Amino acid sequence: MFERVALLGIGLINSSIARLLKRDNLAGEIVISSRRQETLDRAIELGLAERAEIDAAAAVEGADFIVLGAPVGANAAIAETIGPSLKPGAIVSDVGSVKGAVISDITPHLPDGVHLVPAHPVAGTEFSGPDAGFAELFENSWCILTPPEGCDTKALEKVTDFWCHAGSMVDVMDAAHHDKVMAIISHLPHLLAYNIVGTVKDIELLTDRDVVKYAAGGFRDFTRIAASDPVMWRDIFLKNQDAVLEMLGRFSEDLAALQRAIRWGDGEKLEELFTRTRAIRSDLIAAKKV
Ligand code: NAP
Repeated sequence: MFERVALLGIGLINSSIARLLKRDNLAGEIVISSRRQETLDRAIELGLAERAEIDAAAAVEGADFIVLGAPVGANAAIAETIGPSLKPGAIVSDVGSVKGAVISDITPHLPDGVHLVPAHPVAGTEFSGPDAGFAELFENSWCILTPPEGCDTKALEKVTDFWCHAGSMVDVMDAAHHDKVMAIISHLPHLLAYNIVGTVKDIELLTDRDVVKYAAGGFRDFTRIAASDPVMWRDIFLKNQDAVLEMLGRFSEDLAALQRAIRWGDGEKLEELFTRTRAIRSDLIAAKKV
């Protein structure tokens, strides 16, 4: 499928891509680059690439498919570094969880004749680093492509083919729409998890022993989400600021209404909401998402 693939960042997502490329023999050569030499050494030890370069510009030389897989806050600097070394006709893609900012951070650094096709595989775990990846990660999950206006159709087709090959269902949408959908479906739930786990930690009444001893299903689920990579999530909130703040405003209003219902003993209102929300769970079960 590709002659030379350059994977910039080799954590959970890009190492899963590397494993997939290797498993199915989709790339003539895989070159990786990362911030730290020890990450590159480990990735080579795991057999994820033929070559590792600490300098991202050297890694992209001659590559026909380049995938940025670092936290989204790093993209502008990476794009600036690699821009002059990209070969004409190369496809630059990424796997970032935010799309509008990715496009505005990368585009200014791409020379003419290089095609940007941003992608967000909606698949992952709370684990990080090159050891965490696996080739099957993307199977039966969505991959959202957000091609900028005027995107080269052949490049878009190629990236679509790649993600279909990975076992994903591909959706194409506008970056702004993607960012709003993800703000409410993914980013806000993570913010709530970080917040509730943080609040529990700060309540003086509770000792760490109490938390470990009595933590039941609900809180345990929050701790799993709140264990997600801090830098990756810091960048997601900073780079999807507008959409997250918009959804947070709406969420805060609804939360205030619940607070009021509890204060005034309005059980009917609480029961009505809890009954409606159950239906979403049934929909997910029917769609085999849980
Ligand atoms: P990860 O496992 O934490 O790996 C991140 C990689 O990026 C590492 O190789 C790291 O290098 C490198 N890196 C970190 N900061 C960098 C910087 N400032 N400059 C250059 N390289 C840097 O991350 P991941 O979970 O694969 O996530 C990668 C991207 O995928 C993120 O943009 C995230 O939004 C997106 N994504 C994640 C998930 C998920 O569930 N995790 C799902 C979908 C999309 P060193 O180890 O050398 O420091």
